[in-house]
Amino acid sequence: MESCKYHPDTAPNFRCDECQESFCSQCVDHSVAGEARCFQCGALVRVRVTSDSVDPLSKRLKKAFLYPLNRNAVGFIIGLSLVTTALSLMPIGGLLQFIAMLFCSGLAVNYSFLCLKATSVGHMEPPGLSEAVEGSFSILIRLFATFFLIGFSVIFLGQHLGPITAIILILTLVVVLPAILMCFAMTDHILGAINPVNFFGLIKNTGLPYWVLVIFLFIMLSSVSLLSSLIGDEQQAFSAFVQSSISSYYAMVEFHLMGYLLYQHQDRLGITAHDIEDKLLKAQSPASVAFAHTNVCLKAGDYSRVKTILQQAIASDPKNTRLWQRYFEILCRLEDRSALQKIADRYFHHLLESAQTFRMLRDAKKLQSLLPDYMPEYAHLRFHLANEYYSSGDAKTAVQLLMGLHKRFPEYARLIEAYTLMTQALEVLPGMEDQMNKCQALLARLKAQEATA
Ligand SMILES: [Zn+2]
Ligand SMILES: [Zn+2]
Repeated sequence: MESCKYHPDTAPNFRCDECQESFCSQCVDHSVAGEARCFQCGALVRVRVTSDSVDPLSKRLKKAFLYPLNRNAVGFIIGLSLVTTALSLMPIGGLLQFIAMLFCSGLAVNYSFLCLKATSVGHMEPPGLSEAVEGSFSILIRLFATFFLIGFSVIFLGQHLGPITAIILILTLVVVLPAILMCFAMTDHILGAINPVNFFGLIKNTGLPYWVLVIFLFIMLSSVSLLSSLIGDEQQAFSAFVQSSISSYYAMVEFHLMGYLLYQHQDRLGITAHDIEDKLLKAQSPASVAFAHTNVCLKAGDYSRVKTILQQAIASDPKNTRLWQRYFEILCRLEDRSALQKIADRYFHHLLESAQTFRMLRDAKKLQSLLPDYMPEYAHLRFHLANEYYSSGDAKTAVQLLMGLHKRFPEYARLIEAYTLMTQALEVLPGMEDQMNKCQALLARLKAQEATA
């Protein structure tokens, strides 16, 4: 099984032809809607869906029987069956009746082909009725021409090469017929359909699922004839209606399955399903793109690029907590002390601003293990962190953060609160009587100052 370069358990949906590498949706640049680019080289990547990333045919078999049970398809089946029944009963003369019936068959074949085509590009619902009539006659004529050409070649070869060859040819033909129909749907050309390179190529590229499909089609065809014989011909109008409905229904199921085989092997057959393209080429926010990009660079071991990407992303979206956090986490993981020293104050300030105080303590502890001497350059950070530490039971760190705050930040508006906290912290620490007395004296002085101000 093929996989994403960075996710060995994920099927790839993109291919960079420049780097000759495959990626999953998480590992490409989705900055712009309708396109995806390679993070490594910046080139546009190709959408590709491997058969591993869509449901196998066996899973589709059950759903295929429900496929025609849709408003459009049911409407089509009933409408067409009513018309053919009426035509078969109408005394309008042989030739006219023949042409009208031929046209109805054209409609049925055309709609089945539309189902095949729609499925092959990922539309798992029958197509709308407005498209059903368009091109019906031409598709029927081309299909007749195809069968005529095939029949003619079989007879011709049979006459020249003997009856055994003819039998082998006919048997081969039965087996390759679905492939011929699929090639016809893909190319819209008679010559494209009967070209052995095309239909043998299709059989080779689809592999075992093709043979499963062929066996399944035979089972279905024989059950249709069985059903028809069971219904019988006693009530002419009724049986004509039922038989027409059943064969239209079965044709839709069969053509849908043929389309599904194409859909499933689109990568090898060079088709791209629109539904998948739409889904895979949605634009993402700059922050999400930055996350994806950093993940790719991390996996590639390009750490300096990781830092640059996150710095730039934060610069253009400074209020994004997820970006800040990711940057902080990565710097911690890389143990990049100098970068941490530079951003720590801004990071904690951001957490305070965005009311993410619950993260402050956890990240401050993480930072402490890497930078034991870290001391915030801002009074409010020191006070808030001290508060967090004290609340978590770490009175010692709280005291360290508050020590000398009044000297360093004499103008800080919350000095009284800060030193009240410090007395509380000193109270729980053993052997701190001296500091406690000094702190209480300082607090009294601060309060007196405030009263005179
Ligand atoms: Zn990936
Ligand atoms: Zn590339």
